[in-house]
Amino acid sequence: MKAALQQRQRNIVMEVENTLHMKVGDGESSYASNSFLQEIVIRKTLHVLKHTIKGMVNLETAFSKVFVLADLGCGTGTNTLLLASMVIDLVLELCKEINLKTPQFQVFLNDLFGNDFNTIFQLLPKFRANLKKEKGENFGSCFVSAIPGSFYRRLFPDESLHLVHSSYSVHWLSQVPEGIENNKTNIYMARTSPPNVFEAYGKQFHTDFIKFLELRAKEVVRGGCMVLTFLGRSSADPTTDDGCRLMELLAQSLLDMVKEGLVEESFINSFNLPHYSPCEDEVRKAIHNEGSFCLNTFNVFQGNWDPYDTDYTNLVDLNDQISHIHAKNCAKALRAVMEPLLTSHFGNLINIDVLFQKLQMHVAEDLANKKTRYFNIAISLSKK
Ligand code: SAH
Repeated sequence: MKAALQQRQRNIVMEVENTLHMKVGDGESSYASNSFLQEIVIRKTLHVLKHTIKGMVNLETAFSKVFVLADLGCGTGTNTLLLASMVIDLVLELCKEINLKTPQFQVFLNDLFGNDFNTIFQLLPKFRANLKKEKGENFGSCFVSAIPGSFYRRLFPDESLHLVHSSYSVHWLSQVPEGIENNKTNIYMARTSPPNVFEAYGKQFHTDFIKFLELRAKEVVRGGCMVLTFLGRSSADPTTDDGCRLMELLAQSLLDMVKEGLVEESFINSFNLPHYSPCEDEVRKAIHNEGSFCLNTFNVFQGNWDPYDTDYTNLVDLNDQISHIHAKNCAKALRAVMEPLLTSHFGNLINIDVLFQKLQMHVAEDLANKKTRYFNIAISLSKK
């Protein structure tokens, strides 16, 4: 019995490891063409990275020889190498400031097996050429490698990393929490979810985040750092809008398709997301309980559902047309992230175009009433 349960557990974990990835290629609906939202997030954490790298200046091996960076859940497209360039720039800036010779760089790009590493590889020649052009002949070398696998498992040898970075990845769980079959047509925590669903999601995040910290504690050198940015929620209440509203709207869109006979309800009943947006307390508690890292800074910032919406002051958007433009951009960004997961569950039983048209309608209605925003958490940690 116990062995059967353990096997089932292993299968559930394998399922996420093998199916989760962003939409591949560089086509119109690909992640590479629709990751401006995540790009903004990376750029907005520049000050956190800068502060963290400054604090690492006494790490002998990093600054005298090879600075080793790992980007976990690196995704695909230009964001991946943008992060690497930002780190290289910051390290070089610091070296110049304090008169140090520049180190060589080793950049490990990690993501799950289905990630489109090829698109990144194709961007490497340009990345290299730019480095040479911008940094000049004195620039040491930058060695880039891909590390496929889950960050909920060991990825690197003991004490081999100086800086771990991860943006918009740690909110993905290792598995869908167990025992939430009664979540019915919800696909994540929602206002109408039964209490055990909130509990199961919270527990899964706690277990996963602790595991993530334990593993990295083995891989990061003493005094090494981590900068982690992920989706969170602004209040402890799991049904707070910035935590779950968008997923409620995606569930509503699926339900519309059930009502129109386009998909069977039982397929939605068995679909829940391996995702969690924690609140501040949950993050602090896990770091404290695990105990290997000092939490140096805890930053939060918001992001618009439509990354191209720059009208941050407009809280009530009564103009229907504008809401539709924003909703379209929001739906496109979400589709690039969700499509592989949806098709792996629903197969060709679902028309993804129709689903995201429906989502666009719901998002437009919602945005016309209130502008819910993403709530981002960016933390900087150092290994004790
Ligand atoms: N950092 C990139 C990609 C963010 S999308 C950017 O900012 O653009 C989130 C990425 O995390 C996806 O590519 C997904 O495959 C990856 N991911 C999710 N769970 C993971 C895990 N357990 N191990 C490694 N990567 C994971």
